[in-house]
Amino acid sequence: MVLEKYIFVTGGVLSSVGKGTVTASIGLILKSMGYSVTAIKIDPYINVDAGTMNPFMHGEVYVTEDGGETDLDLGHYERFLDVNLSKKNNITTGQIYLSVIEKERKGEYLGQTVQVIPHITNEIKERIKEISRLYHADITLVEVGGTVGDIEGLPFLEAIRQMRLEHGLENTLFIHVALVPILSATGEQKTKPVQHSVQELRRIGIQPDAIVARCQRMLEPEARRKIALYGNVPEEAVFTSYDVETIYEVPLILKEQGIDKYIAKRLGLKYVEPKLDEWREFVEMLKEPKKHVKIGMVGKYTKLKDSYLSIIEALKHSAAKLRVKPVLKWIEATDIEQGKTSLEEALSDVNGIIILPGFGKRGVEGKIKAIRYARENKIPLLGICFGMQLSVVEIARNLAGLERAHTTEVDPHTPHPVITLLKGQRLDRLGGTMRLGAQPIKVIEGTMAFKIYDGEKIVYERHRHRYEVNPKYIDILEKAGLRVSGVSLDNPELVEFIELRNHPFFFGSQPHPEFKSRPLRPAPIYHAFLKTVSYRA
Ligand code: GLN
Repeated sequence: MVLEKYIFVTGGVLSSVGKGTVTASIGLILKSMGYSVTAIKIDPYINVDAGTMNPFMHGEVYVTEDGGETDLDLGHYERFLDVNLSKKNNITTGQIYLSVIEKERKGEYLGQTVQVIPHITNEIKERIKEISRLYHADITLVEVGGTVGDIEGLPFLEAIRQMRLEHGLENTLFIHVALVPILSATGEQKTKPVQHSVQELRRIGIQPDAIVARCQRMLEPEARRKIALYGNVPEEAVFTSYDVETIYEVPLILKEQGIDKYIAKRLGLKYVEPKLDEWREFVEMLKEPKKHVKIGMVGKYTKLKDSYLSIIEALKHSAAKLRVKPVLKWIEATDIEQGKTSLEEALSDVNGIIILPGFGKRGVEGKIKAIRYARENKIPLLGICFGMQLSVVEIARNLAGLERAHTTEVDPHTPHPVITLLKGQRLDRLGGTMRLGAQPIKVIEGTMAFKIYDGEKIVYERHRHRYEVNPKYIDILEKAGLRVSGVSLDNPELVEFIELRNHPFFFGSQPHPEFKSRPLRPAPIYHAFLKTVSYRA
């Protein structure tokens, strides 16, 4: 029998206060107590999914096993909870309206006036409950994106307010995460913004049960007392998410403050001491590296590191196991392209290079130059998705002698389209039309890929791309030294992994293995790359 309880997490004062991390941390704590947990991210924007959004503004598009293009918070949930979530776990305003309007067109509302309350709010509640049922969850965490007071968030807050009424006090819990700034002149922790955001929540009809203050330092007793008083919660329900070296410490610091006991008490859960030993060990290893390695990260969204969040996290997971600290050197591919940075300046001091995923023309020639540099100077290289495709382009041009070889994404008129669209790929519509999600890959025996995956013959990795290695060029590329080391199981024409002989580590992956990397189970490809890098550093 599942318990069917809900924890709603809202945010106050400003965005990016780490609500996602707090939600994921609470999830991990409850899971470590033996409860079945799932987590939902609500995004109040009108996009149906994150697939069409620029990573510059929103950070990376996270891809789920079932091919959802979702908010990056789903990545936090998957990594902390060590589960695979569905695209259903990311609810947006766009999805809700789309389905309500479709129902209206079908006449399902039988002549009623279709309104925000109750039709939109009912749709929201139904989705939340559907996910809870799907996972047989004892506890479903629901994080409402944005900040309390945003107009677009209102229908969601109204829906969760109603859920408290329908499911009862002992089955629902509201946690408000808000910023407590520190005035640099006096060093004082200012609680007024939190007080205001709680008031705003109450105006909507929600009284939080717990408040997590996001602050540089642990709350002083006085600040905590004030937040409790004005926030109308007991002092034991005020927690601090203070600055820590790594986000993976957040579950540990919240547990230390007794959030586990408070939630158990409030929701009437049997208290079981959370089993966090392995997690704690992981955090310790992450914080005590024996050696530093420098990785050149070549991409075009390098100004917003969140664009590559899962890759950064995948490196950390492997780093903990290897006891190394990856120091990331961000290299803007356009700077190389335009000669603002020389290849020497950019890459002569790095121990390994990652060519990051991406779309479109900008910076492409810079990336290709970096690939050539890595190949010729025998620096370990990992190309992910677009990075893999451009590695194929580099090999085609400089090893196979195919002049002006390119991907048709960048040069539709190239004489040698080594990367191109294959049948079945559509361009007429952008949303949700790429090759998406986990698909089986046949790993070719005797290759580096086969070693990386420890002899597994079939592996599943997640995809998000439209273009493919052109099967017509495989022979000529293989003669030039490229090795195809993984192909799609369903369609052996599709190349999944490539590598080069006579190089310490030159590997390209069409899928994104970073999406399946977990703190205690690093992704094999990242691990193999970092291992080679750290041996040689
Ligand atoms: N732009 C390339 C494609 O669509 C690669 C995409 C990516 O790197 N995620 O195939």
